[in-house]
Amino acid sequence: MIATSATARRAGDSRKLATLMRHVERSVDSALGADEAAARIRRYVSEHDAPPDDRVAFGRLCTVVFAQGIGYEAVAARAGGFAEAFSGFDPDAVATYDPKRVESLLQAPIVRNAAKINACVENARRWVALAKTHGTYLGRIAGAAAADDPTTGWTALSGVLREDFVHLGESTAGQVLKHIGFFTAFAHPGARRVVERLGFIGADAAAPTLQKLLGGAAQRLGRDPYALEGTLALFAGIGPCKKKPACDACELADRCPSANVSA
Ligand code: SF4
Repeated sequence: MIATSATARRAGDSRKLATLMRHVERSVDSALGADEAAARIRRYVSEHDAPPDDRVAFGRLCTVVFAQGIGYEAVAARAGGFAEAFSGFDPDAVATYDPKRVESLLQAPIVRNAAKINACVENARRWVALAKTHGTYLGRIAGAAAADDPTTGWTALSGVLREDFVHLGESTAGQVLKHIGFFTAFAHPGARRVVERLGFIGADAAAPTLQKLLGGAAQRLGRDPYALEGTLALFAGIGPCKKKPACDACELADRCPSANVSA
């Protein structure tokens, strides 16, 4: 009975969020222009969907490591330079980088962080060794995923990643999984802020709780969950629901429990 009422509440929340999304989308379109908004959301989806091969997947692992402390936008702005410096993220090539090559990368205006560069090289070596054992590294991930549970946020799979690679904590491992198609592994901080302010979740909600809500709303709208999340992220980044919200300019002010509107 309790489970049934919780299920009904979750379905009701998904329905309500799906209804609010048209205001969120309109707000993002008006801030960026519909074409630019659509392009950014497409990019967000393509940066997270299931990678077609190990090279793309390894590139996403490196991207998450590089983005720590500087943000994904900064890495995206230098994507070409990163790819060139790291041999198109071919793990076999990066695994051969010696200290001289690392030193030359440190001098290049890309990422002057020895710990991150060394992590990328060490992870390439580990990636290559594991891929040899499992056929591909994505094969290893698929095997581990089959024994895990998405509703808990892929915690076992996250543990596998943290054992396999260096420079990965709980949050970064979740972000890597999120960037290779495991939607419930990590919650985008901006999307979380919006959904929390709208009263759907509490501040201590676990990532899978939020992600399941987004997934339910996306399903109702016939949208990709990453596209819906990307739209909320834009609403939080360039729309009215920034860290310091502009509630006076927000279409959702009359139904948002956190609205702070001037009299
Ligand atoms: S009313 Fe304010 S707090 Fe609520 S969603 Fe809009 S900008 Fe965010």
